[in-house]
Amino acid sequence: MAEVLALRVFDLDAHYKDFQALWAVSLDVKKGEVVSIIGANGSGKSTLLNTISGLLTPTRGTIEFFGQEIGDLVPHKTVAEGISLVPEGRRVFTRLTVNENLVMGSYVPRSRPNKNKSLKDIHELFPVLKARQNQMADTLSGGEQQMLAIGRALMSEPKLILCDEISLGLAPMIIKDIYKRLMQINAEGLTIVLVEQDIRRSLKAANHAYVMLEGKVVLEGEPSSLTEDEVKKAYFGL
Ligand code: ATP
Repeated sequence: MAEVLALRVFDLDAHYKDFQALWAVSLDVKKGEVVSIIGANGSGKSTLLNTISGLLTPTRGTIEFFGQEIGDLVPHKTVAEGISLVPEGRRVFTRLTVNENLVMGSYVPRSRPNKNKSLKDIHELFPVLKARQNQMADTLSGGEQQMLAIGRALMSEPKLILCDEISLGLAPMIIKDIYKRLMQINAEGLTIVLVEQDIRRSLKAANHAYVMLEGKVVLEGEPSSLTEDEVKKAYFGL
């Protein structure tokens, strides 16, 4: 069966005023894949995800989602197209309950009618969110808040989720559990882009990996074809 391209980023530049944060970045994500983007602090990983999500407008290049140009879409339009971001730092609404947070994720017209079914699916995926559905989000642990952020992103019934440093600050056991569930939803057909600083974990999970340095893609390939030494060198710019 021919492989379908979910996302194609081509020759992308992005700026914060005069500062250029992305330099001619190109990346392909096939439907059903897990793609990892790794790189040190400040290498442009979040900027890339934010540009794909429409939070930042590219200054050059194209972003295609299932063949349609989306580079000029604002965030709620990219969500409507089927792209959902799990932002760095979780950003859950602390003064809302778990379920209220989840329901906020289904605000786009396409997903609103399926809200109850999505809620049920997410309660099944993360039973702890069901157990704590009426608790305020700020009473959750860090790991539970991360599950909530992922759950909220899934409520819009995305075709692609972009996960920004979901392991940051969490205990290894929790990270393992979250990854297990992500792999489960990937097996059900969801395409996933992971941004991580943890080289080993992201290479293990991915079908394809990209290494970024100073706003550029400096290495890419299937994890099995990349040696750890090669990745580390690219990561640190050695
Ligand atoms: P981290 O792991 O720290 O999140 P990152 O790889 O995601 O790093 P970005 O956050 O994309 O990197 O940052 C890329 C560059 O853009 C950095 O030099 C950063 O200082 C700069 N930058 C990020 N956000 C802004 C902003 N809002 N205004 C100006 N410069 C920014």
